[in-house]
Amino acid sequence: MSATVEKHEFKTEARQLLDLMIHSIYSNKDIFLRELISNASDALDKRRFEAIQQPELLPEGTELRIRLEPDTEGRRLSIVDSGIGMSRDDVHELIGTIAKSGTKEFMKKLEQAKGSEVSPDLIGQFGVGFYSVFMVADRVTLVTRKAGEDTATKWESAGDGMYTIEDAERAEAGTTITLHLKETDEEDGLSDFTEEWMLRRIVKQYSDFVAYPIQMDVSRTEVERDEDGKPVEGAEEKTVTTTETLNSMKALWLRDKADVPDEEYNEFYKHISHDWQDPMARIQAKIEGTLEYRLLLFIPGTAPFDMYMRESRNRGVHLYVRRVFIMDECKELLPEYLRFIRGVVDSEDLSLNISREMLQQDRQIERMRKGIVGKVLAFLKDLADKDAEKYKTFWSTFGRVLKEGLFADYENQEALLELSRFSSTMEETELTSLQAYIDRMKTDQDAIYYMTGESRKLIEQSPHLEAFREKGYEVLLLDEPVDEVWTQSVFEFKGKKLVSVGKGAVELGSEDEKKQAEEARKEQQENYGSLLEYLQKTLSEQVKEVRISNRLTSSAACLVTDAGDLTPQMEQMMRAMGQAAPEVKRILEINPKHPILEKLQTRFSADAGDAALSEYAQLLYGQSVLAEGGQLPNPGDFSKLVAKLMTEAL
Ligand code: ADP
Repeated sequence: MSATVEKHEFKTEARQLLDLMIHSIYSNKDIFLRELISNASDALDKRRFEAIQQPELLPEGTELRIRLEPDTEGRRLSIVDSGIGMSRDDVHELIGTIAKSGTKEFMKKLEQAKGSEVSPDLIGQFGVGFYSVFMVADRVTLVTRKAGEDTATKWESAGDGMYTIEDAERAEAGTTITLHLKETDEEDGLSDFTEEWMLRRIVKQYSDFVAYPIQMDVSRTEVERDEDGKPVEGAEEKTVTTTETLNSMKALWLRDKADVPDEEYNEFYKHISHDWQDPMARIQAKIEGTLEYRLLLFIPGTAPFDMYMRESRNRGVHLYVRRVFIMDECKELLPEYLRFIRGVVDSEDLSLNISREMLQQDRQIERMRKGIVGKVLAFLKDLADKDAEKYKTFWSTFGRVLKEGLFADYENQEALLELSRFSSTMEETELTSLQAYIDRMKTDQDAIYYMTGESRKLIEQSPHLEAFREKGYEVLLLDEPVDEVWTQSVFEFKGKKLVSVGKGAVELGSEDEKKQAEEARKEQQENYGSLLEYLQKTLSEQVKEVRISNRLTSSAACLVTDAGDLTPQMEQMMRAMGQAAPEVKRILEINPKHPILEKLQTRFSADAGDAALSEYAQLLYGQSVLAEGGQLPNPGDFSKLVAKLMTEAL
């Protein structure tokens, strides 16, 4: 064995994080122990799970447990687990760096929060639990040996930006973390973390439900006593040491709800999710029938920072089978659009030997997943009905993700539409539900109208809304990228059609009114026939048709997407995702009552060969692109034309 000690520098991000920890951003220092116990418990889970396939990883007689070893005189506290352990490379990667996606984002947020206290949930979200040891220790030693390997590794750091790594000895697989504690300073939250009662209290408070025994040797001095319980005179005091288990290890989801205080549920949530903040809501259920399982799920208080990243860390839910932990990050039990949910599902029926590979085809898993989705959606419906304020918070945090279900989960489309909230022309700041929209619909209105776009402001300015405003029809303003996607596959809600005001033809009002409007439009179409043809020919590169509009009242022209075509935003999104998107040409609709059109017509009638006409056609088109917040392919040409026009007019 080499005795060389390698010295390393922490990666920059890790160093900054350490600084943060040392300079005590978090007043509740107790939680370092919660973090270490959580990590130990995860490591024990992993060892037990891997041993299903490789029994040699768990030799007979191995006790899966966590030990606390305090040393008051030496001002040390060790946390010892018999979990999976780490290889030398693991230690480098897991402890020496923060090799996780999203680190950059984290640093950005830290930067923003500079000066003010960094909120604890931020730290938790980025999975930097281990570093919290430096809140209470000025030096930390970690000795670890991975199950299945013969060598052990020692890692040590004083949190000063450097750490050392060397070979070490450890009799069995597992990890020992020794904290060289800072001086006690009650005011600063630095209690004496070697005291028995202190450790008991912290374990009880944060880690009572941990499924492995958290043990500690407890010594008592005893004197020999007589039959009446009185000390025997002259007998010597003896010190008796016993190993005590500090936690009850009771699975929380099996206990009667009435017996479990909220705080305990919240701690459990933090334990399984590695979040530092209380959850927003809790969903508990026991499902009976052909399939039996219990669930204890949580909606986090804030959105995980990586909710929109493709390589999301997505921890999913923990799967248990008859109280035995099987795996964490079980994604098969939840659809993607509920990826923010954390918690536990405990099945009575699955095989204890179920592997990750089997999950994907397992019929029972599929049925459980449906049941779980049903429970979650029913819970959300109930929340929306009973606590509008809380639902609002929920929606603003997770609504965007939930909307993905509108196109991904056809079976629950109606339920998800009911849960969805949207901006609308009728509401300045509040969001509306589709039901509320339907309740406000005009008597002659038969469809739910919406418009998609980049932002509420841009959509509001778009000429497409003119006729709807005039009629007093409400229009939903859908300004999130996901809206472009779901509106391609949702066509109805409660018997009402969902209609885009930027797509296809527009027909508003009663049957009679529609008929009249259509007749008037046809007439105008004929009146303007040759001009329309001319415009279409001139703009054939940009648009597929030029026609008379029913949706404009004050603007001269606008661009609409043909009924079956992709919207420009959708086209852009597909390209951004590296998908082939067909080049879609749109339709230019013109307002026959607008003076520009009237004058164009006059000029066109006078001289169809007038060279200025084609410039005006380009201007008309360019203006329509700008009106809806679009980008001109040749802004330079457009601005030259405008300048020319101004010079002539001035
Ligand atoms: P998190 O636990 O949120 O992932 P941590 O900084 O607490 O972040 O830990 C980083 C990683 O180090 C863990 O994900 C785990 O892989 C490893 N680790 C930490 N403690 C232990 C332990 N006691 N045994 C085995 N691996 C551990």
